[in-house]
Amino acid sequence: MLIAQIIVNSSAQELNRIFDYKVPDEYEVGKNIDIGYRVLVSFANYKKLEIGYVIGFKESSDFKCKTISKVCDRAFNKDKFELAKWMAHRYFCNLSDSLRLLVPPGTSNKIDNVKIKYEKWVSLTKDYESYLQNHIEEEKKYKIKSEKQQKIIDFLIDNLEIPASILVDVTGTSMAVVKALEDKGICETFPMEVLRNPFLNKSVKRTKKLDLTPNQQEVLNQIDINKNENYLLYGVTGSGKTEIYLQAIEKVLNKGKNAIVLVPEISLTPQITDRFLARFGHIIAILHSKLSYGERYDEWRRIQRGDARIVIGARSALFAPIDNVGIIIIDEEHDSSYKSETTPKYDARSVAKKLAEYSNCPLVLGSATPDIRSYYKALNGEVKLLRLDKRISTFGMPDVTIVDLRQELANGNKSMFSKALYDEIKKNIENKEQTMLFLNRRGYSTFIMCRDCGYVVKCDKCEVAMTYHVTKNKLMCHYCGAEKKNVSICPECGSENIRYFGTGTQKIEAQINKAFPEASVIRMDIDTTNYKNAHEIILNKFRDEKIDILLGTQMITKGHDFENVTLVGVLAADSSLNISDYRGSERTFQLLTQVCGRSGRGDKKGRAIIQTYLPDEFSIQTAKAQDYERFYSNEIKVREMLKYPPFCDIMVAVISRPRWEKSYWRFEEILWYFQR
Ligand code: ADP
Ligand code: ZN
Ligand code: ZN
Repeated sequence: MLIAQIIVNSSAQELNRIFDYKVPDEYEVGKNIDIGYRVLVSFANYKKLEIGYVIGFKESSDFKCKTISKVCDRAFNKDKFELAKWMAHRYFCNLSDSLRLLVPPGTSNKIDNVKIKYEKWVSLTKDYESYLQNHIEEEKKYKIKSEKQQKIIDFLIDNLEIPASILVDVTGTSMAVVKALEDKGICETFPMEVLRNPFLNKSVKRTKKLDLTPNQQEVLNQIDINKNENYLLYGVTGSGKTEIYLQAIEKVLNKGKNAIVLVPEISLTPQITDRFLARFGHIIAILHSKLSYGERYDEWRRIQRGDARIVIGARSALFAPIDNVGIIIIDEEHDSSYKSETTPKYDARSVAKKLAEYSNCPLVLGSATPDIRSYYKALNGEVKLLRLDKRISTFGMPDVTIVDLRQELANGNKSMFSKALYDEIKKNIENKEQTMLFLNRRGYSTFIMCRDCGYVVKCDKCEVAMTYHVTKNKLMCHYCGAEKKNVSICPECGSENIRYFGTGTQKIEAQINKAFPEASVIRMDIDTTNYKNAHEIILNKFRDEKIDILLGTQMITKGHDFENVTLVGVLAADSSLNISDYRGSERTFQLLTQVCGRSGRGDKKGRAIIQTYLPDEFSIQTAKAQDYERFYSNEIKVREMLKYPPFCDIMVAVISRPRWEKSYWRFEEILWYFQR
């Protein structure tokens, strides 16, 4: 008798254990059932069947077992199972919680058989492409008879591949012409699932790999795709990191292996996916939360079948059913979206490291402003450091100016635009160049600051800004829980000019309209991006309609490459400095560096203006100089002095149990875990 060990798909703590079920006679391990299969089982006296995951087999059981009711699909392989086990242990979640990440989106509570439709796609044959590239004209190996045939070939040269029906339509030809070319071995057709993913049905101009600069070449050579090694690629914005990712992936593909690329959720702009599409065509799959369940499910299936060999996505792309992974790349590795704040709570960088280990492949973390902890590891040799020091564009980095808002106020300017910023925006509008205005706002917490001297109420013990709680009219430290009375007079300089920070973008938009009535403005924040493809639509509009000013929050800081943006304005740099978090300085430096890096990416020199109440603040000064290393060397000293990460680990243990005795031993258990 064969017994399957099964984990029931449930978050209930009581069910977080293995149950035994008999395997029906007609099933054989390795053939139609295995580790990673999903099954339906009857549970206790419930009528409804529950979904379970097979995680092992044995010969007998100490219990009187029921038989599996139905064997469904295969959801994951052994490597992924190991990963889920590791996560359950590392992040204190039920095994079923981490296993749930591994199943096709939208099917964790319902297993359906989805009908699949195929359509015919066309591309040039590899043979014909190399014939074209090598210019063996004289040989005339391929005879092209008609103009219509030539039309199709020209179209396919520019566009990697395309559904046959669209090809015939846009070229004004017929299927017979395609067939004729196919017979000659010039083009080929292949079936492709009719997909719901809007990204993949668009055709993009194809690109060839660029000739690398010597510095890029050196970096690429250092990435050994044949072994498990962790790299940190530190390169200023626009230094050509993405090109290195593309070429490293090409090497991996040529070895018959596959790739995973993580990008921060909000920067999943069409721009980066377009660059991958243009280079690699239909073998990429895109996964992120803005896709519908149906779209994500389609992508999942394409990956599972091996049709997609490069998965690009937010952190959940790590769990895509891709086998034979040859490289994992995490772009903008410092981004906070790599941490999951819902169960299972995990850090995608740690999970990726583990997955790279199981897959025996390299992990490349890339950033212009690495996480302090990552850079610390790199300097200690735990991670290999790769560097790109220069921008590709000859204009180099933008000129950054810092404006002291206290001085503006002293001069009687109470508007949110300093004189300098106002003048520069005016100039840009006249020259028909574009401007990005960045509002540095995180979350909804408010802090309190003196507008005259820049004083911020901080916790005496923890040195982080205290958060204002309206309901209590008190200030609280979110680290240690200390409370303070609210202030109405600055204890530092006696001024009554106390300001609560946390202004909305909508208000600011109205002020821009008032200050620059001749300018067109578009806004990008949480409110304007809650519909599908909103990022893409807003950004395209900004570029194509040459909108004068883009106003936005964090979302506008990264990944975008607009040639005509020559001015970036930071309205108030301070608000991330004073978030109640020890990473305040780090966040500020990262944000300012990233946002200033948006300026002057085309063939015109860029400018950036940072408005602040704290012009001498180290993170702002170093961001002005775009000098990560100077920022790092200072910040790491502060961290060491105050015993903050990487010199300690911070954890939050939330314990909720109806009876104290029980929670007490849970707490002991947690302590034990960390004292090992
Ligand atoms: P990053 O990812 O570091 O911001 P990108 O890879 O986007 O940098 O490169 C910035 C710009 O420089 C892009 O427009 C890219 O096409 C171009 N570029 C990158 N590498 C090269 C190269 N070797 N030769 C010419 N242009 C390059
Ligand atoms: Zn405190
Ligand atoms: Zn003051």
